Amino acid sequence: MQTSRLPGEFALIARYFAPLARGFPGAYGLLDDAAVIAPAAGCELVAKTDAIIGGVHFLPDDPADLIARKALRVNLSDLAAKGAQPRAYMLDLALPNTIEEDWVAAFARGLAIDQAEYSVHLIGGDTNSTPGPVTIGIMAFGDIAAGRIIRRGGAHPGEGIFVTGTIGDAALGLRVLRGEIPCIDAAAAQFLVGRYRLPQPRVTLGPRLVGLATAALDISDGLVADLRHICEVSNLVAIIETQRVPLSPAARVAIATENNGLALALTGGDDYEILFTAPPSVADELAEVSQAFGIPITAIGHMEAPSAGTKTGVRVMDAAGRPFALEREGWVHF
Ligand code: ADP
Ligand code: MG
Repeated sequence: MQTSRLPGEFALIARYFAPLARGFPGAYGLLDDAAVIAPAAGCELVAKTDAIIGGVHFLPDDPADLIARKALRVNLSDLAAKGAQPRAYMLDLALPNTIEEDWVAAFARGLAIDQAEYSVHLIGGDTNSTPGPVTIGIMAFGDIAAGRIIRRGGAHPGEGIFVTGTIGDAALGLRVLRGEIPCIDAAAAQFLVGRYRLPQPRVTLGPRLVGLATAALDISDGLVADLRHICEVSNLVAIIETQRVPLSPAARVAIATENNGLALALTGGDDYEILFTAPPSVADELAEVSQAFGIPITAIGHMEAPSAGTKTGVRVMDAAGRPFALEREGWVHF
């Protein structure tokens, strides 16, 4: 058996992770068994965990700093969609013995960059070796005013369906990385790949949706699949129109050259944008929020009550008002 190229578990923690806990008293410098975290006055803690796995969520030779930032950001994206302000996170790291210390150093540097960007601290975790691929589990905690979390089930008939940012970039970016969309220019390719490798969680915008959005989630599995989740818990039908779905200029170019490119954008996932419903009465406030953060908020359809005998779910309409056929709605693991 090959011996590990890493220093021992506790040396790794002291060298690379303890510095990331500085400034958070309840982390006790990562020198105790557990951490203490209290919500801000009048708030509750929202907790979320998400793991990313080499070969499943990232490519094994992706840069370690970007892998770390993606692992953190996918969790912050969930907190944002719930309206919560991120505070802290824990890190469960499983490393195969092919990993070298430089990799861990770069990984910790990536975390440090995003801790500064999003004002969060590492407060604990676990470190293990594994015979499998690199596996990174993060659990993130955020503050939300008590009782104000934005859930999936609050949508009503007649409300609009909105998304932040643009849809489909990351799924197209993964295709670009695999060499499956060769005929787009370098700048467009770089933009799409960047959207795949480094999501932009809507951390500042999300909390501003409290009191405006009636249901929300972040798009990780695909726009249509994730909208279905809102439909199922809200017991409604969603009608969306393909020509209203916001696409970046690079995505438009990629879609024009790619068979089924639009379907991929609608179902590919990894967008980490917020998908939400809101009543027509808050349209002006949504426009203000969009303006304040410089992030587009686009209406893509509306919610309806299912008519007698029909099921909840998502109906996708093309520019001519005909049903837009999809082979699948999004990513599923099994
Ligand atoms: P042991 O498993 O021997 O009990 P622990 O898992 O308790 O050791 O780790 C010691 C301390 O280091 C704890 O405070 C734990 O939260 C922290 N820790 C371990 N691994 C990580 C990690 N990957 N990131 C952050 N903190 C970690
Ligand atoms: Mg332990």
